[in-house]
Order: sequence, then C-alpha cells, then structure tokens
Amino acid sequence: MGSPPKLDMSFEVVVAGGGMAGMTMGLALAAAGGSTAVIEKQPAGTLRDAGFDGRTSAIAYGSQQIFDGVGIWKALAARAEPIRAIRIADGTLNEGPSSLFLHYDRLDVDSDALGYILENRDIRDAQLSAAAASEAFHLLAPASVAGADRGPGGVEVTLDDGRRIAARLLIAADGKNSPLRLAAGIRATRIDYPQIAIVCTVAHARPHDGVAVELFLPSGPFAMLPMTGQRSNIVWSERTELARNILALDDGAFLDELQRRFGNWLGEIRVEGPRFGFPLGLMHAERYTDRRLALIGEAAHIIHPIAGQGLNLGLRDVAALAESIVDARRLGLDIGSGEVLARYERWRRFDNVLMATSMDGLNRLFSNDIGPLRLARDLGLAAVNRMPPLKRFFMRHAMGVIGDLPRLVRGEPL
Ligand SMILES: Cc1cc2nc3c(=O)[nH]c(=O)nc-3n(C[C@H](O)[C@H](O)[C@H](O)COP(=O)(O)OP(=O)(O)OC[C@H]3O[C@@H](n4cnc5c(N)ncnc54)[C@H](O)[C@@H]3O)c2cc1C
Repeated sequence: MGSPPKLDMSFEVVVAGGGMAGMTMGLALAAAGGSTAVIEKQPAGTLRDAGFDGRTSAIAYGSQQIFDGVGIWKALAARAEPIRAIRIADGTLNEGPSSLFLHYDRLDVDSDALGYILENRDIRDAQLSAAAASEAFHLLAPASVAGADRGPGGVEVTLDDGRRIAARLLIAADGKNSPLRLAAGIRATRIDYPQIAIVCTVAHARPHDGVAVELFLPSGPFAMLPMTGQRSNIVWSERTELARNILALDDGAFLDELQRRFGNWLGEIRVEGPRFGFPLGLMHAERYTDRRLALIGEAAHIIHPIAGQGLNLGLRDVAALAESIVDARRLGLDIGSGEVLARYERWRRFDNVLMATSMDGLNRLFSNDIGPLRLARDLGLAAVNRMPPLKRFFMRHAMGVIGDLPRLVRGEPL
C-alpha cells in the first residue's frame, strides 16, 4: 500500500462559505491568532457587486459590537444609517397605517441608536478588505468544498479542484442548503412560507429621520428601512404567486404597486437599481455539531426576515463559537473536541429557537386580514406601547443585549 497523498495546505480551522457569517468567523479567529481558511465558491468581485445582493441588514447593537471586535466597524461606520426609532403598525392597501401602533425610540433605552442599517455589499466589502490585510486569514475564492473526511484527530477537506486541506475543525457557514449539514446527516425542521420577499431600494423626496417602519399588510409585512442619504430599503413580503407577478411588472406598474403600500409620508419616490425576490422559510437544524464540524448562520437556522434578525443570530453564533475555540486553545485543549462543540451548541440553541418561533408566530399573526384578529393585534401593539418595562425588554432583546453574552457582543476582546 502506498503512502497517502500529500496534503496541500494546513490550517487550524477551515470555514466553508464566505457569506457574511463565514467571513466574520474567519476574521474573529484570525484576529485571535488562529490560522484560518475561508472557502467561498463565488469570486470575491461578485460578492462586492451591486447586482449580487440588493439587501440591507438591520444590525443590532450587539452585532455592531462584534463588527467592531473583528476590526471592520471603523470602515463601516460612515456607511451605516443609525436607526433612531422603529414604528410598527397594522395597515391596509391605500389606507396607510392604523392609528394604534407601537413606537420604539432610542431615547427609551438611552442609546444613540437602536441599531444600524447597512448595505450587504458594504459589509462584504469591509470583510474582504480586512481579510486581505490579515496574515492569519486565507481566502480561497472561487473554490468549493467538495467533501470532508472528519476523523477522530482532525479533518481533511477536499476542494472541487482536487486540493486537500488539513484542519482541526471544519465550520459549515455554507448557507441554507448547507451541503455539509446534509452530508453529515443532520436533519432539520423546515417550513416553506407561501411568501416571497420583494427587495428594492427607493430614493424619496423627504428625509426619513432614521425611522424604520414596519407595516403589517394583509399578505405580509412591508418594511421601510432607513439608508444613508434620502433612501430606504424595502422588504415587502407578498404571497408567492402575486410576488412573482409584481416582480415581472414593468417599471411604471411596479412603482404604482409600491406607492400603494409605501404611502406618501416621504413624498415622491423613485426605485433605484434592480429588484430582487427571496423565497421565505423557516429552518432549524436538529443539531449544530457533529464530529469536528460546527454549523453557523443559515447553515444552522433560517428565520422570517420580519424583524431583520437572521444575520444577527448568525453573528451571535460566530461570537459564541469563536470564544469556545479561543478559550480551548488558551487551555491547551483540542479546539475541535466534542466538549468544545457541546459548549457552543448549549450556548446558542435557546436564543436561536426562541427567535425562530417568535418570528414564525409574528408572521402568522399579522399576515392575514381576519377582522377580530386585526383588532386584537392592534390593541396588543398599542398596549405594549403603553407598558415601558415590557417595551424596554422587547427592545433590548431586538438589540441583542440580553442573555449570556459572548465577550465580542459585550465589546470585550476575544
Ligand atoms: C429579504 C431578507 C432580508 C433580510 N434582512 C435582514 C436584516 O435586516 N437583518 C438581519 O440580521 N438579517 C436579515 N436577513 C437574513 C440574512 O440576510 C441572512 O441570515 C444572512 O445573509 C445569512 O448569511 P450566511 O453567511 O449564514 O449565509 P449565506 O449568505 O447564504 O452564505 C453562504 C455562503 O456559502 C457559499 N457556499 C455554499 N456552498 C459552498 C461550498 N460547498 N463551498 C464553498 N462555498 C459555499 C455560498 O456561495 C455563500 O456565499 C434577511 C434575509 C432576507 C431573505
């Protein structure tokens, strides 16, 4: 028998997937001195392209702390729009918001901002630049993980071009259809919502003053998220068939449909750039770990974007897993051992399940036009609005600053 073929490269950790969760993971580990490879199937130039992902992300206060901790907030601060207030109301087509609403204000929590709106392409750009400047970070893109042989002492990752890489731990950040989760036989609970989120950017005549608006229309939530300049990003959930038809409309008819929902509160509006459609669903993996494998971000869980929390959960996964790895390394322990991975899983499961079920419940409660239900939820919103302690609790949860927080979320070094 001949000797096994030589491995091409060796790192402490290999991250499969260079989406926003995978790249943050790579930056966190590299900043703490661990040699890390991130493997991404898209070319880096594509990730930066305006036509690749027209979304913005509402970044909670806790996630801003993580971005600061991994060294990208300085580059992002000037491109971030602070969310000064959030207004949530029921609405109907052409009639605008109900007079019973919930209003969250940064002053209620004594903070400069409730969070920030960032364009995904700006986040990706800052991550790619920081990765290029780091000696410990190795981005292999375009390249795909084709398979992984996970043994008791380490992992051998095979790329689609035949290269083989050794590591102590493999992190799957390979998105909602995670090939690594499927290959590990990890089952998942999955619900496909009969909704598509239509996403586009609009420029408007009047300033938004940093107010994010979530309007609950009968077929799904319609969010207007304040961007830099007089622009807002629209996340407009519609029933699947109708959404497909709306996405196919010509520019004039699309603008008319948009205006019927957007209303006139920001004056005349104009669509900027392309429109995008994202099918919506819920997914939760039954386990986040397997031998020398940890799932993070959408490889582990997908939630409805109704409150803009999906990436925030993924970033909290990053902070908890990075801390588990770094603590183990400092103690001279095996960073890919079952104990380290179990700590990560225990840490993240409750927060992720709670957020997924809350978002599912909210979407079901609000995506309909049943009279008594509409009245009950309007009264509910108005009631929470008048209960400062409950309101503050919801705000702090949305800001990502309650529970057992990892060091990066607390603004401490890893
Ligand atoms: C309409 C909409 C609005 C949203 N708004 C918000 C918001 O405001 N705030 C918020 O917190 N969240 C929001 N989210 C959720 C957020 O966008 C996602 O949670 C986040 O983008 C997921 O990032 P990820 O890195 O986990 O996965 P992905 O972005 O899917 O990244 C996975 C990466 O893995 C790569 N890959 C896959 N397989 C392989 C392989 N075999 N080898 C190499 N690479 C591979 C892919 O190319 C991809 O780049 C929203 C979601 C939607 C749909």
